[in-house]
Amino acid sequence: MTYDYCVIGGGIVGLATAMQLLKERPGSSLALIEKEQELAVHQTGHNSGVIHAGVYYAPGSLKSTLCKKGAQATKEFCEANGIRFETCGKVLVATNAVELERLGALEQRARQNGLEVERLDAATLREREPNIVGKGGLFVPSTGIVDYRQVCHGMAQAIKAAGGEIWLGQTVKEIRESSRDVHVSSEGNSWTASKLVVCAGLQSDRIARLAGLEINHQIVPFRGEYFRLPPSKNRIVNHLIYPVPDPDLPFLGIHLTRMADGGVTVGPNAVLGFAREGYKKFSVDVRDVATYASFPGFWKTIRDNLSSGLTEMKNSLFKSAYLEQCRRYCPSLTLEDLQPCEAGIRAQAVMRDGTLVHDFLFQQTPRMLHVCNAPSPAATSAIPIGEMIAEKLLNA
Ligand SMILES: Cc1cc2nc3c(=O)[nH]c(=O)nc-3n(C[C@H](O)[C@H](O)[C@H](O)COP(=O)(O)OP(=O)(O)OC[C@H]3O[C@@H](n4cnc5c(N)ncnc54)[C@H](O)[C@@H]3O)c2cc1C
Repeated sequence: MTYDYCVIGGGIVGLATAMQLLKERPGSSLALIEKEQELAVHQTGHNSGVIHAGVYYAPGSLKSTLCKKGAQATKEFCEANGIRFETCGKVLVATNAVELERLGALEQRARQNGLEVERLDAATLREREPNIVGKGGLFVPSTGIVDYRQVCHGMAQAIKAAGGEIWLGQTVKEIRESSRDVHVSSEGNSWTASKLVVCAGLQSDRIARLAGLEINHQIVPFRGEYFRLPPSKNRIVNHLIYPVPDPDLPFLGIHLTRMADGGVTVGPNAVLGFAREGYKKFSVDVRDVATYASFPGFWKTIRDNLSSGLTEMKNSLFKSAYLEQCRRYCPSLTLEDLQPCEAGIRAQAVMRDGTLVHDFLFQQTPRMLHVCNAPSPAATSAIPIGEMIAEKLLNA
């Protein structure tokens, strides 16, 4: 089977890229290949469902620009395709003097990023969120919520309507690039394309190596564990409630998230995973662990983040420790309120020198483009990321 373009990965980045390629080159042939029987079952289908506004990112950075553009584009895509979303806003809550100071810096950053924000004193915070306590807050009205699985189904429909093919249940096992084309095979099928894009999330480093790329990073899985509040607590917050993040840590901290289905989740934490695609607690995949344990950068990361890593591990093992994190700003929560909810797993790229990659990472050859790291808020930013990838690929 011969195509103009082939895309590996049916998460939101692969789908947005395929959609954009067909928009840029109408009438061209495209095959999107996904190993699971359904789309969006890994990172995209296990996230917090937040349409981020772009508060945290350095002004002018790629992350900041793509997030702001992506939030707008996601909302427009949902409107055009009848997908429910809500612009419910979020409040960052400072619980002590250090966090108040950090909140001031975040307010400045948000304004530099062109966002409308409102500073709340303790009394106003209490008025807006009667179940939340803090020394102050920052209200970001443009943050929204959506079910990204539904967004992906909308994208799949657009791809099919533009003549693209979606192949499910096809695990890519072989990739060969020649001067004329790229050859991709699964167990039972093969595809030849003029250009290939790989958006394989948690497996992206393996696929890059499979394709013969020399890479300097390794994917390390970081679990994001959630709890769900009982339906009686669905109205406990009016907005999304976030702690003020520690600038030394790459994740945003456990937050209270109103979900598109009406429920409220608490989470996610960020704890080292022992399986890339094992969502159950204590899932272990020996091959996954052996792969990162034999990578020198992994041990450097562990040494550099030992204290926070151990705290996260403790919070993961002991529900009471997890609860304490949330009770700092939502004191009425009890252990019984924390009901089981499936975890998500982040594909975190770690460099050989132990640096955690916080930004997008791409690697390109004459006929292939590999997305090697697509961290949060890549679900929010997926549409402009797809535009950027299509441009890189078509102009190569
Ligand atoms: C816990 C958590 C919370 C998050 N919260 C948010 C949020 O609220 N807002 C936000 O904007 N972002 C959030 N993110 C980030 C966002 O979800 C991810 O950055 C984004 O989903 C990445 O999409 P992707 O398409 O790159 O990867 P994925 O969704 O993981 O898709 C990769 C796909 O490639 C397929 N694949 C892999 N190997 C092969 C192979 N050999 N052959 C064929 N197919 C293959 C996989 O099966 C998978 O479907 C969160 C992430 C996590 C984990």
